[in-house]
Amino acid sequence: MKVREVDVVILGLGTSGEDLALQLLDEGLDVVGVEPNLVGGECPYWACIPSKIAVRAANVLAEAGRVNQLAGTATANPDWSVVATRIRNEATGNWDDSYAAQRFMDRGGHLVREYGRLVEPDTVDAGQETFRARMGVVIATGSKPFVPPIPGLDQVAYWTTHDAIQAESLPDSMTIIGGGPVGCELAQVFARFGVKVTVVEGHRLLSNEEPEASDLITDRFETEGIEVKLGAHVTKARTDGDGAMLTLDDNTELAASRVLVATGRATDLSQLGLETLGVDSSSRFVETDDRLRVAEGVWAMGDIAGKAMFTHVALYQGEIIAEDILGKNPEPADYQTLPRVTFTDPEVASVGLTEDQARNNGLDIAVALKDLRSTFRGWLHGSGNEGLVKLVVDRSCDILVGATVVGPSAGEVLGLLSVAMHEQIPVANIRRMIFPFPTFYGAIGEAIGAYGRGTGTVLDPEYRNNAILE
Ligand SMILES: Cc1cc2nc3c(=O)[nH]c(=O)nc-3n(C[C@H](O)[C@H](O)[C@H](O)COP(=O)(O)OP(=O)(O)OC[C@H]3O[C@@H](n4cnc5c(N)ncnc54)[C@H](O)[C@@H]3O)c2cc1C
Repeated sequence: MKVREVDVVILGLGTSGEDLALQLLDEGLDVVGVEPNLVGGECPYWACIPSKIAVRAANVLAEAGRVNQLAGTATANPDWSVVATRIRNEATGNWDDSYAAQRFMDRGGHLVREYGRLVEPDTVDAGQETFRARMGVVIATGSKPFVPPIPGLDQVAYWTTHDAIQAESLPDSMTIIGGGPVGCELAQVFARFGVKVTVVEGHRLLSNEEPEASDLITDRFETEGIEVKLGAHVTKARTDGDGAMLTLDDNTELAASRVLVATGRATDLSQLGLETLGVDSSSRFVETDDRLRVAEGVWAMGDIAGKAMFTHVALYQGEIIAEDILGKNPEPADYQTLPRVTFTDPEVASVGLTEDQARNNGLDIAVALKDLRSTFRGWLHGSGNEGLVKLVVDRSCDILVGATVVGPSAGEVLGLLSVAMHEQIPVANIRRMIFPFPTFYGAIGEAIGAYGRGTGTVLDPEYRNNAILE
């Protein structure tokens, strides 16, 4: 077979692969993109974008419900077909990637619609073609929905997140297995569209977040009529009429017309030819160094690289790889101020360490915790104002090591704290800022005693002002 020499081969033109490919094409490189499915990958077709379209719609319904408490009367009639149409027509073009594929090819990229695998460290087989990369091979093959081995589940017509995003109509009732970010976002969306939702979660909702955030979201879910089963595991599944019956470890039985499996993501290294690099292909993730290098001339990024499964992480890594391939000696990747947002209502946004993680790391910390309802903006907002600001500060230097914001637009409010943490701005300096009144991010000021009402910073032993100090 004839081997074609090119500059770079990217395995997977998904969320991160496509972005990297366009960067390299703009630099004049000869790029081959190997992609058996849709150019653009998960984020635009089955993940971030369509799910947030659904979240936006569900939030509008919730706001309509709040009219009755704040502004008169309003009746909303949820209609999922509006969301399904927006996802199908506006967001995904009916899951058609012609525009993205053409954009890649118009810039000079060579697209191969096949699965690819390494046959040598610099050589990739893709269908009938073989490419040798002069400058590098990048592995960006992402992840898929993980389906746990629950006896009987394969007999039940369950949905993964892919099916949920592509749903044209909704069931009457749904049991969601998994209370992580994706399970929580979809639980609230479907409940607001009239589905009777139960969430089964082995630990607590959003278990990577501060316990206060988990409790708040659990309370909100229960208030909205979502049943939450915490510390519960599904032990078996069977069909039940047109729906499914799940059995929990305490022998409770849960019937629902549909089961949604939201138990995280699976990766598969076994078909990538990684043995040619000496990489164990039974591992869950491809190990990289801090410039995302797997071996000389081979890089990995995105979900498969196992740092954190977010689009913003995948894109961040792609920029480092682009610079490295181009010989620009990039700064090493640094995940210390990695922000996370779960788009429930209220949003849960966080950066850095939780209080427990900071303590377990042996840090001497101060913690400020402010209930959003006791802040100026939170109080006046009224219905839908549940939330909090939690700050974890290293006492030795007065610098944030972690922060959580729960509330309306918490993902936006977090921005200030991310910058502060990233730039290592002392809390005393943040306190001296002028916070516009009354804003949600003013709650940060209130948590650390700004607005002239505090007694000092969170490091001040006398500091109380509605905050908890330990
Ligand atoms: C429901 C949901 C909502 C989400 N919401 C958010 C959000 O709001 N914000 C956020 O930051 N993140 C979100 N995420 C996570 C985000 O979607 C992923 O982290 C991101 O898409 C990963 O990008 P990637 O490039 O690693 O992989 P992908 O986008 O999955 O791309 C990988 C590509 O590789 C291809 N491929 C696989 N094997 C091969 C092979 N052998 N050869 C060639 N190609 C191959 C696949 O076909 C695929 O197209 C969400 C995820 C889900 C499931």
